[in-house]
Amino acid sequence: MDTVAHSQIQVIGHNWAIELFARQVQVERVPQALLLTGPPNIGKSTLALFFAQYLNCQTDGPKPCGVCLSCRKILNGSHPDIRIFDDEQQALKIDEIRDLQHDLSLSPYEGQYRVAILCNFERATTSAANALLKTLEEPASQVVIILTAVEAGSLLPTIVSRCQSTVLRPLPTSAVSQALQTYWQASPEQGELLAQLSAGRLGWAKRALLDETLLAHRAECLRDLSDILRMNRANRLAYAQTLSRNQVTLKATLQVWLTIWRDLLLLQSGSKTQILNLDWREPLQNLAGQSNLGQAKEMVTKLRAALLNLEYNVNPRLNLEIVLLKMPKFEGK
Ligand SMILES: [Zn+2]
Repeated sequence: MDTVAHSQIQVIGHNWAIELFARQVQVERVPQALLLTGPPNIGKSTLALFFAQYLNCQTDGPKPCGVCLSCRKILNGSHPDIRIFDDEQQALKIDEIRDLQHDLSLSPYEGQYRVAILCNFERATTSAANALLKTLEEPASQVVIILTAVEAGSLLPTIVSRCQSTVLRPLPTSAVSQALQTYWQASPEQGELLAQLSAGRLGWAKRALLDETLLAHRAECLRDLSDILRMNRANRLAYAQTLSRNQVTLKATLQVWLTIWRDLLLLQSGSKTQILNLDWREPLQNLAGQSNLGQAKEMVTKLRAALLNLEYNVNPRLNLEIVLLKMPKFEGK
């Protein structure tokens, strides 16, 4: 996929986290383990890479410069002292941690620090997490370990207590919209819509801008939901069987449905809060007219629970069936 070329890692927002880190580096109190938490696609791994650049940048000026050899190698993934574990599908395993531990026991090869970035650490196996704990207990000098996770509560407390925790919050939608227009050539309309849909998660907004299948899938989710609301029990169960075959699509679909029911809840309660799916005001008002506040509340709760269940490997089909059978039944074909 084509992306816009950049010589520097774009961190938008999270300024306080960068300032804190920079101060610690300046006074030579570099944290040996960092935990970055926040919703998916909010910029955790981007910030981790930025920190890796910061630690190894060769310039005497403001860091990271984005142009020195070290900065460029980190950006294109070829720096020998930076290890990144960012597999969306696979859990981090104990063998990989052992391999990493060996690496970290050596002095930096060409940079000042060895940096290990372990993304979505809640997905690591228990044995991998326990193995990493040993490394955190006996930190080596010139080594920085950065973990990312959605919530600290999903990690072993003993791991969390050994990390400097940084909680990243969603950006204001105006900042997301501005960044999309400034750095990724979005039109003002695209910028506003994607910023709103992203709920302040720039990573998501950027992906949706560059990969149009994301918005196409979103439109499909609305169509499917409208159909399901008119389906009988048997057809809903058949739909559950098909959709649950692909975990990634299932999760993405549940996430979109959650935004829809949340919007329906806002419309039905007459709230002044702006709906998320700005471009769907009309179809959503139509759906809101056929359902009630209690149903919308229940669906928001059920969808949140279903998304959480996915993280805990609950049977995907049963998980989805519960949601679909709880959805109201609209009249009509
Ligand atoms: Zn540099």
